[in-house]
Amino acid sequence: MSDPVPGPVVTVCAVRETAPGEQRVALVPESVPVLARAQVHVLVESGAGAAACFPDSAYERAGAQVVSRDEAIGRAGILVCVGTPGPDLIARLRAGQTVIGMLRPLVQPDLARQLAAAGVTAISLDGLPRTVSRAQYMDALTSQANVAGYKAVLVAADNFGRFFPMLITAAGTSRPASVLVLGAGVAGLQAMGTARRLGAMVTGYDVRPETRDQVESVGARFLELDSVASAAGEGGYARALTADEQFAQQAELAAKIGRFDVVITTAQVPGRRPPLLVTAEAVKGMQPGAVLVDLAASSLGGNIEGSVPDQAVMAENGVRIIGAGHLPAQVPAAASTAYSHNVVALLAELIRDGTLTIDPADEIQAGVVVTDQGTVIHPAVAALLGPSITGDSR
Ligand code: NAD
Repeated sequence: MSDPVPGPVVTVCAVRETAPGEQRVALVPESVPVLARAQVHVLVESGAGAAACFPDSAYERAGAQVVSRDEAIGRAGILVCVGTPGPDLIARLRAGQTVIGMLRPLVQPDLARQLAAAGVTAISLDGLPRTVSRAQYMDALTSQANVAGYKAVLVAADNFGRFFPMLITAAGTSRPASVLVLGAGVAGLQAMGTARRLGAMVTGYDVRPETRDQVESVGARFLELDSVASAAGEGGYARALTADEQFAQQAELAAKIGRFDVVITTAQVPGRRPPLLVTAEAVKGMQPGAVLVDLAASSLGGNIEGSVPDQAVMAENGVRIIGAGHLPAQVPAAASTAYSHNVVALLAELIRDGTLTIDPADEIQAGVVVTDQGTVIHPAVAALLGPSITGDSR
């Protein structure tokens, strides 16, 4: 007689996101059978997928159990979110539960302190070491940046009063739009490729010289600037520029930006305010009808002077500046599907023999596990909080 098949031992619940404008969901129906095969019992808070066009019935058909928020919090061992859970949810989590999301612990370390004090294990996908090859499947920063880069071009095209491609018609010929993308990371390269596919003339720039080949490989021209020779930092990221370098870069960009119809900015430096690349002076040099889209626009600042998060602002000279720091939430079905695949890959990594196994010595876990057993164990987050948090908060 064969051994009995053991029943599910881990209960995971995708909760409904409550942040304003958030339309994504952390698990999509197609992930439910994948998790079930790994002996994970899947709960979904009622309505969690509705804004991303995944109704409760689709989860039920896939084998998940749709539950109320109370039941989700009461029964789930692991709660999965896209962004930071709201204060109401955080206040109700109890010791021994785990929360997985993009928790931005370096930006909001107090959340880590709160979760540690409650005995909640916090796992943040935005801390993933991105150069570890087996981590690629879990890389939510990449999956969401891809969506943002794609959508940024659609937003720009939608707000631009002319065509992106060259069109030759009986009514005349239109020249292709000239698009500049600043920052050639994941979002920037996706924006360049998407703008090319729409027929625009595309130029890209980054402070890491190794991006030149990547920019050219998506069909864009690399913009040469003399002001910063190289600002390659650690782990494939850029370092912050010195004040002198930043000033020189802004001045050089200002002199060149006026000839572009569309500028999309994607520059980030980990753990820092986004660098200011486009000054008000540079915006003044652009033509009426030009469009700027700032993917870095958030409460921390942005790449474009005068950009306001989640708003479009018209400058005096008829140039439109769009603060677009939350674009993945505007492509919710695709962004959720990719994010859900990342979560499933992470769970496969963390659940061993039917148990969530925390091992801070593992190189992936060292990046993503923020709190465990009442302590903030992520060194960079613990350092932000000061010495009293490590070991003392149990
Ligand atoms: P990011 O979001 O941190 O920054 C976006 C881009 O802004 C970066 O290319 C950065 O160099 C650039 N930037 C910063 N300051 C700038 C300035 N002052 N002027 C112009 N550009 C500036 O980057 P990201 O998209 O998260 O990618 C970071 C790195 O991770 C890249 O090297 C990328 O190739 C790498 N990555 C690797 C993998 C992998 O190996 N599997 C996966 C994803 C990303």
